[in-house]
Amino acid sequence: MRVRFAPSPTGFLHVGGARTALFNWLLARQSGGTFVLRIEDTDRARSSVAMTNAIRRGLEWLGIDWDEGPYFQSDRVAEHTAAGRKLLAAGRAYRDFSTPEELARDRANIAALAGEATRAARRRAESLAPGEADERAAAGEPHAVRFLVPEGSTEWEDAVHGTMRFRNQDIDDLVILRADDSPTYNLAVVCDDAHVRIDMVLRGDDHLSNTPKQILLARALGFPVPRFGHVPLILGGDGKRLSKRHGATDIAEYRRDMLPEAMVNFLALLGWSPGDDREVMDREEIIRRFSLGRILRKGAVFDADKLAWLNGRHLSRMDLARLEALVNARLADLQQANEAAVQDRPGWSEGLLDMLRARARSVDALVRNVLLYRPGEVRYEPAAVRKHWKRPAQAQEYLEALRRVLDGCEWQPEPLEHALRGLAEDLGVGAGRLIHPLRVALTGQAVSPGIFDVLYYLGKDLSLDRIDRALETLAAGQAELRAGTRGRTAPA
Ligand code: GLU
Repeated sequence: MRVRFAPSPTGFLHVGGARTALFNWLLARQSGGTFVLRIEDTDRARSSVAMTNAIRRGLEWLGIDWDEGPYFQSDRVAEHTAAGRKLLAAGRAYRDFSTPEELARDRANIAALAGEATRAARRRAESLAPGEADERAAAGEPHAVRFLVPEGSTEWEDAVHGTMRFRNQDIDDLVILRADDSPTYNLAVVCDDAHVRIDMVLRGDDHLSNTPKQILLARALGFPVPRFGHVPLILGGDGKRLSKRHGATDIAEYRRDMLPEAMVNFLALLGWSPGDDREVMDREEIIRRFSLGRILRKGAVFDADKLAWLNGRHLSRMDLARLEALVNARLADLQQANEAAVQDRPGWSEGLLDMLRARARSVDALVRNVLLYRPGEVRYEPAAVRKHWKRPAQAQEYLEALRRVLDGCEWQPEPLEHALRGLAEDLGVGAGRLIHPLRVALTGQAVSPGIFDVLYYLGKDLSLDRIDRALETLAAGQAELRAGTRGRTAPA
C-alpha cells in the first residue's frame, strides 16, 4: 500500500490535516506499506518555507514519520506542463482564448444554473476555424488549456462512502494549464500521484468534487487510477466546520499541554471507531486495529474535554522515566533545573510525579504542580483563601499548633498523619478543619493530592517555611482578608 499526505504549505498543520496524515500513516504501517510526504507548494505566493517546516515539526511531534519525501510539487512543474501539452496534442484538451469578460459572464451563468457545466468555453473553442487556435497560440496570444471532459459518468468505489457517481455533464472543462503555462492543482496532483505510484488516496471530504476530475485526467493520461477514500470533516461542538472559533486548530498549540500519544489517540478517534467502546489506545494498538471500513461517514465532533481526558489517561499510564525526562526538559526551559537536587531522597522525583500525574490532564499543569514542590513562593489562590482562611485568626491558631506538632515528627506520611489527627482530637475538631488551611498554606490551592503526601514530598524544611510564611501573611493581612469577606457579602 503506497499512500501519501500532500499538504499545501499555505498554513500550519491543521487538526484536520494531521488526522488525514495519521489515517494514511496508519494504513501504511499496518500493511507494511509506504507513507509518502509531498509538499504541494505550487501556489508560490501563498506557500512558505516556514509553513513547510511547521508541518514537518507537527508530524514529527506526533510520531508520524514518512518513508519517502518530502517531495516538492514545485520541482516537477515542467512534467506537469508536459502532461498538459500531451493532452492537448492528443485532442483531449483544447486552447481557450476566452476574454476576462466572457469568463465573468460564464461564471454568472454557472451560478444561475446551480453548478451545471455550461460548456461555454468549449463552444467558443469549437467555433474557431480549423487551425486558428494553433495559429493564434503560435502568434503568442495568451490562452488557457482546458481539459475536454468526456461524455458519460465517472464512478468509483469510495473506501468510506461506497459507490460514488458523478455525471460528467456536471463537471466543467477544467483549466489544466494557465495562460503562463503553469499547471493547475488537479493536473499536478494526478501527475505526482502517478509518479510516486500512489495506490490509495485518503483525504478530506472537501476534495470529493476533485476526485472525478482527477480520475478522468488520470485515464486520459494513461495513468493507473488510484483508489479513493474521503474522510468526513471535523466539526466544532455546534456542528459547524471546525474553526478557530471552536479553539486551537493548529496542532502546534497542543504541544505544551498534550502528549503526542494522547493527540494521536484523539485524532484516530475523530472519524474512526474501533468497533467496541475502547478509547484509550496506544500507537501499536491503533495501528493494529485501524480499518477503512470503520471510518464514520458523518462529521466527527472535536471534543476538547475528551482530548484532555485522554491526555490524563496517557499521562497516568506512560513510562515514568519518560515522563520525568519530559518534565525535566520543561523545568530546564523554565530555568528550574538547578533546583532539581533540592530533595535528594531516593525515589523522590519519581514518587512525586507518580502522585501528581494521577490528577493531571495537561503536561503544562503537571509541570506547574511539580514546581510547587520546589523552593519558591506560593501564590495563594483567592478562592482557596476565601474558603479555607475565612477566619484568619482561627487559621492562624490552627497553623501555629500544627507547626509545633509537625516539627517534632518523623517526616513520613504515616507519622505526619498520626500527629495531625492527634492534634485535631486534642482540639476537639474534625481533621478537615486543620487540613484545609494547611493545604492553602502549603500549595496555595483548595485541591491537591492527599495532604500527608504533600507534606512528605515537600519535605520538612519547605513545609515549615511555608507554614511560617502563611502565618506571616495571615497576621499581616487579617484586616484585609476580613474586609474582603465583608465586601463580597455586602448587598449590592
Ligand atoms: N494539497 C491539498 C490540500 O492541502 C491536498 C491534496 C490531496 O490530498 O489530494 O488540501
